[in-house]
Amino acid sequence: MADRQSPAPKKSAPRKAKAPRRLPPATVEEMFRRFEERDPEPKGELEHTDPYTLLVAVVLSAQATDVGVNKATRRLFAEAATPEAMVALGEDRVREHIKTIGLYRNKAKNVVALSERLIAEHGSSVPPSRAALELLPGVGRKTANVVMNTAFGEPTIAVDTHLFRVGNRTQLAPGKTPLAVELGMEKVVPDRYRRHAHHWLILHGRYVCKARKPECWRCIIEDLCPFEPKSVPGKGARAVV
Ligand code: SF4
Repeated sequence: MADRQSPAPKKSAPRKAKAPRRLPPATVEEMFRRFEERDPEPKGELEHTDPYTLLVAVVLSAQATDVGVNKATRRLFAEAATPEAMVALGEDRVREHIKTIGLYRNKAKNVVALSERLIAEHGSSVPPSRAALELLPGVGRKTANVVMNTAFGEPTIAVDTHLFRVGNRTQLAPGKTPLAVELGMEKVVPDRYRRHAHHWLILHGRYVCKARKPECWRCIIEDLCPFEPKSVPGKGARAVV
């Protein structure tokens, strides 16, 4: 009787990491074409008059609404709208002006400290460099990207909570961290839309693709967005990010 060998156990193929879904370039192009058509010159909502007041406003905006920051900066900038005036005003008075917004103690300290650094190291100007900005107290990558884009016209993409959510829901740039979404966006957003992309996406997230309930029924990219289930008026939608 022939010796029946049992078949060698099959080696299971190594599992491939699931690549994130990506939108076809034509779909991405069409999304941004619509954003541009609706709002050719989008603007951020933080009130400012120059790169310095923009920088201070963005530093104050972490975990605060733009409306709340604008209320505080109207009082603050009426007294101090330059690095020298801010240092002269001092941390205690800055704190008084901004005490209606979150984390105000730390923010007051950072605003005075970054003003001192601008005077000492940058001739009282805001440096047009992301690396130099990130060295200032209270300034992270998102703040530096907002300043580079809005004050200096660079095509940077600042990923805040709204843009992070929209990047994931739309699959424009899925990612687990703000940096992953930012780098993903840099790869997929067509050059001609890069300058305004972050404003369009932030405003879209703030007013339409809201965190708790995206308003898909009035979304101008609804037919292009793979997020499911789409929401309808009066009904909730499952939030994924
Ligand atoms: S269709 Fe809905 S989930 Fe997709 S971008 Fe629009 S609002 Fe957001």
